[in-house]
Amino acid sequence: MAERDSCPYCATRSLELRKSETAIPYFGRVLILASICSDCGYRRNDTMPLEDHGPSRHVIKVSKLDDLRIKVARSGTGSIEIPEFGLRLDPRDESQSFITNIEEILVRFEESVNRLKKLGRTSKMAECNKLLHEISLARQGKARFTIVIEDTQGNSSVTKEDRILRSSLVSSKEYSGIIVAYAR
Ligand SMILES: [Zn+2]
Repeated sequence: MAERDSCPYCATRSLELRKSETAIPYFGRVLILASICSDCGYRRNDTMPLEDHGPSRHVIKVSKLDDLRIKVARSGTGSIEIPEFGLRLDPRDESQSFITNIEEILVRFEESVNRLKKLGRTSKMAECNKLLHEISLARQGKARFTIVIEDTQGNSSVTKEDRILRSSLVSSKEYSGIIVAYAR
């Protein structure tokens, strides 16, 4: 069943919303919201988790190159933050579920900072360049930083092996190089 809404890009009421339900690895049952604008071609896919495991919080301490391979399954309700760099990805900015690793998260943030630079706000230039330098060091395994993944429904998870760890209980565990803290 399709609904119509205003397109966030061209503002005409040509945005068609399609909903479907499916099960995907790591995330369980999800609702897929596909928005397609028949006028300008804008499209966006959102996945909303249908499973609720309660709020979770994963804290990964990154200190060496090998840690960049740690896998993260980030659900549509999860946020990713690097407090040391003041960087944050919010579900409201991007609500797609994705599986990634720490290095790819750094690349995503690097791209966002580069986009910000292109907007040409000169007052922010120095700040952007400093951030890009810090991210570059981090990608070479030369910086210590923290990745914090918070998920209101506990569908995001972290692993160093092929098996993804799902947080459910209030406890704290340490996995060689990773500190997975289940809080709240
Ligand atoms: Zn449009």
